[in-house]
Parts: sequence; C-alpha cells; structure tokens
Amino acid sequence: MRIFKEIGPLRAYLKPLQSPAFSVGFVPTMGALHAGHLSLVRASKGQNSLTVCSIYVNPAQFTNAADLTHYPRTLERDINMLIEASCDVLFCPENDDMYGAAPYLSFDLGPAGDILEGQFRPGHFNGVALVVSKLFNIMQPQRAYFGQKDFQQFFIIDQLVRGLKYDVELVCAPIVREPDGLAMSSRNMRLNPDERNRAAVLYQCLLQTRKGILDGELFEALKSQMNEYCTTQRVVLEYLAWVDRKSLAPADTVADSILLIAARVGDIRLIDNLFVNE
Ligand code: AMP
Repeated sequence: MRIFKEIGPLRAYLKPLQSPAFSVGFVPTMGALHAGHLSLVRASKGQNSLTVCSIYVNPAQFTNAADLTHYPRTLERDINMLIEASCDVLFCPENDDMYGAAPYLSFDLGPAGDILEGQFRPGHFNGVALVVSKLFNIMQPQRAYFGQKDFQQFFIIDQLVRGLKYDVELVCAPIVREPDGLAMSSRNMRLNPDERNRAAVLYQCLLQTRKGILDGELFEALKSQMNEYCTTQRVVLEYLAWVDRKSLAPADTVADSILLIAARVGDIRLIDNLFVNE
C-alpha cells in the first residue's frame, strides 16, 4: 500500500493513472478503523481499478472541542488493517495542508443541514461538506463509498454532489453491527465496559419503534416509551425521528421511511438508524 501524507504527491501519483478504462474508488474515514470501514474498502475493491482510503480527523466537522481531542487515533493499527484488506493507497494529510491559509468556505445546505444532527451539532455538516469537497477535488474519484450508519451525512453529500455537479457515483453501504446490534463506530472504543453494555439500547429502541410502527401504534407514543426506556438504562436520548428517506421530512407512511436515533451513553454520543420497511 502506498501512503501519502501530502496533497501534491498524491495528485501527481493519481493524475497519470486516469483514463476511461481506469477508476478510482474513494473511502473517506477518520481512522480508528473497524469492520464497518473495511466493508467500504471491500466494496470499492470489487468495483474499481484502484482504492484510495483517507484517514483524516477533520477539525471542521467537530462541534465539541473535547470530542475532537479525545477522538481515537490508531494510525499504525489502521495501516495494518488496510494492508490486510489490500487497500491500494492511503492518504493521511495534516491540517496545514488541508486547511492552512485556504479560505474557510461555507455552504448553504438547506433545511437538511439544520435538522437532526445539524440541530444538535450546528456547523457539523458544513465541515463535512467542506472536507468532502476538498477530498473529491484532490482524488477525482469515479466512485465514493459511505456508510448508511451516517444516513443524514450521506443525504447531505448526495445533495452536494448533485448541487456542485461532481462527476462521482456515491455508494451507500449497509451498517455493520456488533453481535448485540450496536452499530460499529470508532467512538465505541471510548465506552467503558458498563457503557458498552448499555449502548445496545440504541438498536433496541430502533427495533421496538419499528415494530410499533408496523403494528400501527402512534409514533409520538412510541417515542415517549423509548425515552422512558433510555432513562431506565441511563442513556440520554437526544432524538428519535421517523422521516422520509428521500426528503428527511417527518414520515407518515412506512414506505421509504427510516428511523434515526442519537443518544448519549456517559460522555459518548452515538447515532444509529434503521429502514422501517426492511
Ligand atoms: P468515520 O470514520 O466515522 O467518519 O466513518 C467513515 C465512513 O465509514 C463513513 O461513511 C461512515 O458512514 C462509515 N461507517 C462508519 N461506521 C460504519 C458501520 N458500522 N457500518 C458501515 N459503515 C460505517
């Protein structure tokens, strides 16, 4: 695996490879890799001539200084996992190269940028849109791979790609879970054993709410039941939303709808989601 720490040499490496018969598959990550990330690498390997993974803890998308400071960084281990997964190229830049003296651009992402995660983490999606735009411009990928785990992020990036006419195909990969249903996440590493046990509550809430909706129960009633359930497990529910997958507007029918949840277990904020009609 080739490792690039600077934009210039990576561009110089990729440019001569581009041709109609050649495709770059791009997997952006913030590192502390797990099986969820590796599923994206595998998907890219199956569809492209070259797979590039990036590991960059993007300061612009953090809305909480402690979360940025404590975000797990395990580069040596990540490199070994990527080699094992036969990833072709790793890009792990420094902040100076990515942001440095460049103007800090803002995006108007419309209402989708200000609800749910956007409401609890104001400015988060602007930081995501900014770094993904930079990375797409550096990498010029034919395909880019994201997880359904961050469903609203995928929605926003899809808007970005369509709005700015990026010539890239977006692929949304299914959520990889632990045996108890907890969605894999780099932040899970920060849970102590007791918190780790309680973290399965998020997936339980999603399953129970989906069952309730399919049984014809009122979503508002289900929401307050889940709130109580979380409280008994010492989990703080930030939101549980039932929305249309295509618009993120509140859903009133099962078809094409999704449940989204965010909750805090101790100091760690976790998110998850579930399609209702699957
Ligand atoms: P992150 O390193 O958290 O920024 O995640 C990098 C990419 O991996 C994003 O597109 C995530 O949605 C995706 N991802 C994170 N966790 C999972 C998971 N459990 N299953 C599948 N994809 C995931």
